[in-house]
Amino acid sequence: MEAIAVESYAAGRWIAPSPNAARKILSAVTGDIVAHAGSDALDFGSMIDHARNHAGPALRAMTFHDRARLIKQLALYLTERKEALYELSFHSGTTRPDAAIDIEGGIGTLFAYASKGRREMPDSRTFIDGGVEALSRNGSFVGQHICMPRHGVGVHINAFNFPVWGMLEKLAQSLLAGVPAIVKPATATSYVSHACMCMMVESGLFPDGAFQMIAGGTGDLLDRLGPQDLVSFTGSADTALKLRSNPNLLRNAVPFIAEQDSLNATMLGPDAGADTPEFGILVKEVVREMTAKAGQKCTAIRRILVPQTMVDPVVEAVRAKLEALQIGDPRDKATRLGALVSTAQRSDVLEKVAQLNREAELVSGAGDLTLSGADAERGAFMSPKLFHCADPDSAEIVHEVEAFGPVATVMAYRDVDHACAMLNRGGGSLVASLISHDPAVARQVIEGASIWHGRIYVNDRDSADEATGHGAPMPHMMHGGPGRAGGGEELGGIRGVMHYLQRTAMQGSSRMVAAMSESWLPGVPTQTQDAHPFTRSFHDLQLGDTLETAARTITLEDIEHFAHFTGDTFYAHMDEAAAKANPFFPGRVAHGYLLLSFAAGLFVQPDPGPVLANTGLSDLAFQKPVSPGDSIRVTLTVKRKTKRTDEYGEVRWQVQLHNQDDEPVASYTLHTMNAY
Ligand code: NAP
Repeated sequence: MEAIAVESYAAGRWIAPSPNAARKILSAVTGDIVAHAGSDALDFGSMIDHARNHAGPALRAMTFHDRARLIKQLALYLTERKEALYELSFHSGTTRPDAAIDIEGGIGTLFAYASKGRREMPDSRTFIDGGVEALSRNGSFVGQHICMPRHGVGVHINAFNFPVWGMLEKLAQSLLAGVPAIVKPATATSYVSHACMCMMVESGLFPDGAFQMIAGGTGDLLDRLGPQDLVSFTGSADTALKLRSNPNLLRNAVPFIAEQDSLNATMLGPDAGADTPEFGILVKEVVREMTAKAGQKCTAIRRILVPQTMVDPVVEAVRAKLEALQIGDPRDKATRLGALVSTAQRSDVLEKVAQLNREAELVSGAGDLTLSGADAERGAFMSPKLFHCADPDSAEIVHEVEAFGPVATVMAYRDVDHACAMLNRGGGSLVASLISHDPAVARQVIEGASIWHGRIYVNDRDSADEATGHGAPMPHMMHGGPGRAGGGEELGGIRGVMHYLQRTAMQGSSRMVAAMSESWLPGVPTQTQDAHPFTRSFHDLQLGDTLETAARTITLEDIEHFAHFTGDTFYAHMDEAAAKANPFFPGRVAHGYLLLSFAAGLFVQPDPGPVLANTGLSDLAFQKPVSPGDSIRVTLTVKRKTKRTDEYGEVRWQVQLHNQDDEPVASYTLHTMNAY
């Protein structure tokens, strides 16, 4: 095939590398030239300007929902064209299932953020973080945290192993937040990222400059960033250290999110003998993690901790599976282990293997490499290497050196505390897994090790069929880890979006805070309209629209009827003496659920109309008991409106119940779906 010129996409133009300055990228399988890339012709200043001054304002003019909708369309657009990405990925040595982790994983992350953005963020330009904080005795001065998109650019520097997922998982968060990005994929697989970027640009969905791409080095880009920009880096700890030490980044306090390498471990619980399902689960997880992407996964298992008696069975079972695998041409469906990304990467791994050999014995993968349909001289193939370290306490390399390939080491632990101490010797990892069926062991491991790991994955016979895998970062769950793993936190649902938003504590009167937070707050004047609020469409309802109901007296007969009708004959409603003996009640009292039911009876307008459904209630508080003979009345106020679909949106209502003395007795937020 003709070599691909990996162009950069800068300030609305595709810019090819100068022929002499371009770096050649070789096929991991055949050693032929696949592509050349280089960024020597780029003007980084104009890229930053384009992002900050062109794309940024256009993205910020949209709401979170607008951007979430575009992210979904982008995911659909890429889905239709993904075969081209699979085809290119073979050159990087990956089998089709390996490429699926990258491609489907990347597109899936876009879908997940599109959906979370619509469900968990407002159809607004401001994100409200948490509830209103009372800052004064009479409630005239309150506080609220609000989050707005940063007015800068996100520089995304990605690792070679996930050219699509690595790009899309960061873009999903950045674009949802409303912050444009300059993506710098790792050069080794930049031709795959480039193909994906071409599709994204062609889609025309996002304002120009929402994403730009650098094929090659970053030149003086980092020296030009300012306080509203941020860097999100994925790669080795060494590169992260070099980049995050950039004096300009330090001077301007430019946030630097780092997802680095890590010595992830798995642990077989002491309860899991060779005849338990957990033993089989561990072996499967280990083999998958050693071979998927040829072990080039930041989350791959590098250390396998097992009880002393299980060393031999585990080594035997893993070795049997590894030695049966077909290694070679990644296009061949029978191949389980493709090539590493380059011969340089293989040399690096083999050098680390030599280091491991000083502390551990190679128990699988020592023999000659047998390849299927591939040339060992030209491609970056290697056999998987399983080590056994007999003295993990005094060993250091096995806990510290990341061989970024199909390499892992088995080591024995004495008891769970010892296992936790070894789990933690990685100095901070992205993920640790425990394969055990004993909740007490799980608890001990979580207490003993969780602070050193970004994710703890516990798998057993109950979850094995549906568990997502030790090595799979899920968009819903945080990805990142402390210490050596970089201290970054990506994904985790909306948590990952927060990196791109500036959180500001806003203080003022309720009226001021309500105006900013696009919601009604207690203390803000309300208004009543002639028509019942349930007869008015989503768009006609105004924040602060209020309904005051008539009062209803609650009798002992009501309480008894409700008790027998529902079966809730709890003593506080039925037995005067027992109720009185309870410190909370003056005697028999109305059920809380009775109050809610009567409240609905007071405020509901029964005819078919714009209210489509009651989807729930939240923040329920019973504030004062209601005794037989008391009366209740309801104040219903429109608190917040959020568009959900093209046909209806969610209305949140503040519902406040008062008794005959105007004392609050219950309050909650009612959620309804209302037609436009
Ligand atoms: P790397 O060598 O550290 O490179 C990472 C990125 O940094 C690449 O895009 C690279 O670009 C760029 N880079 C290197 N030097 C730079 C410089 N001076 N200025 C600007 N950019 C620079 O890592 P890698 O070999 O691509 O990836 C493998 C490593 O990444 C492994 O250690 C793995 O554990 C880690 N990783 C971590 C995660 C995670 O989520 N925590 C995910 C995947 C991988 P060039 O390619 O152009 O040099």
